[in-house]
Amino acid sequence: MNQKIKMKTPIVEMDGDEMTRILWQWIKDILICPYVDLKTEYYDLGLKNRDATDDRVTVEAAEANKKYGVGVKCATITPNAQRVEEYNLKQMWKSPNGTIRRILDGTVFRAPILAKGILPYVPSWKQPIVLARHAYGDVYSGVETKTAKGDKAYLVVEDEKGEVKEKLLVHDFAKGSGIVQSMHNTDASITSFARSCFNYALDIKYPLWFATKDTISKKYDHRFKDIFNEIYETEYKEKFEKAGIEYMYTLIDDAVARIMRSEGGVLWACKNYDGDVMSDMVATAYGSLGMMTSVLVSPDGNYEFEAAHGTVTRHYYKYLKGEQTSTNSVATIFAWTGALAKRGELDNIPELTAFAKKLEKATVETIEEGKMTGDLVALFRMEGVQPVKLDSQGFLRAIAEKL
Ligand code: NAP
Ligand code: MG
Repeated sequence: MNQKIKMKTPIVEMDGDEMTRILWQWIKDILICPYVDLKTEYYDLGLKNRDATDDRVTVEAAEANKKYGVGVKCATITPNAQRVEEYNLKQMWKSPNGTIRRILDGTVFRAPILAKGILPYVPSWKQPIVLARHAYGDVYSGVETKTAKGDKAYLVVEDEKGEVKEKLLVHDFAKGSGIVQSMHNTDASITSFARSCFNYALDIKYPLWFATKDTISKKYDHRFKDIFNEIYETEYKEKFEKAGIEYMYTLIDDAVARIMRSEGGVLWACKNYDGDVMSDMVATAYGSLGMMTSVLVSPDGNYEFEAAHGTVTRHYYKYLKGEQTSTNSVATIFAWTGALAKRGELDNIPELTAFAKKLEKATVETIEEGKMTGDLVALFRMEGVQPVKLDSQGFLRAIAEKL
């Protein structure tokens, strides 16, 4: 029996809810702990414990992620009115992902996991398209209202002393009622978004594309373009040239057209709304939500790995009734391997990073041999291979065998 791989610094482990909480334990038991002397600092972000700690546990976990640099998070319930009743909650706690993002101040990177036989809907896509979504401001913290006929809407800016610096007419609603909206971003947030994107592109050695609509939005979107250009020229140009990758700025509609024609292998930086919309398009076009990784990277180099999907509630209710489920654990496995590999890299433990890569390979090869969960069976096309649907644990055991 080989010795288990030793770790130096703990990974911040954030447990979660429902079916993904079940998968979480099984992944550790079946695929990680037999090989790695796993060192984690454990935070239970399950809804019950968030409620019991008045959500302090989420803040503590995010602080720990900042302290140690690498965290891995299980999917969690973001409570709504129905969950407040179901779990008898003290209040409707905020989204844990939102809280963690605010504390870490990061950018979310999402990438599809490719397996032969699971064909993207876009035939030319051969490599992953990785999406970087700015997770601050714009319409997500917009201010909006309805207006009546005869109203006039202005955009007013006051200086520190409260004196009006600028008053711009947005629209005169003389002819009839309507709607009005205003939104903002900050130079600091755009700057950290830009640095995260440049750093990540260097990390994965992909060219970086960034796009806005600066021809129309000559102040707002143009600011994004200028900040990206300035940071590229002063801090990253040489590093990009050395790595043999390029930075390209273009218009958002041109970027969409180029993405559709591309072979993939691109890091696509998107403003908040573009990233929200385009990440769902890209995920779906590559096959399944269960095959999408997600990592939050902060400008000061903290990483939080997670799956891009939710807690798979419908499967959990089946599990509670004692029925078999066939829930795809690939994204959650890759959240763990992402964290293990990054820890290995930072602590100079090459065997830990190598183990993570082997586990990823075993996972993908298990699918390529035709063993998979139900969500993938309908998508799988490979000559001479008949896909077999395994239950949730059966799939993990098949990976373990391969490993
Ligand atoms: P979801 O959990 O992603 O599930 C939606 C549906 O997608 C499932 O019912 C299932 O379809 C399919 N699916 C998703 N992941 C799958 C997987 N790994 N394997 C197989 N099928 C999968 O989203 P939701 O139902 O909208 O949300 C459920 C809970 O998750 C909510 O409480 C929400 O707040 C939370 N959530 C958390 C996060 C996060 O923590 N990052 C993200 C999103 C949602 P079938 O039922 O047809 O099999
Ligand atoms: Mg979305």
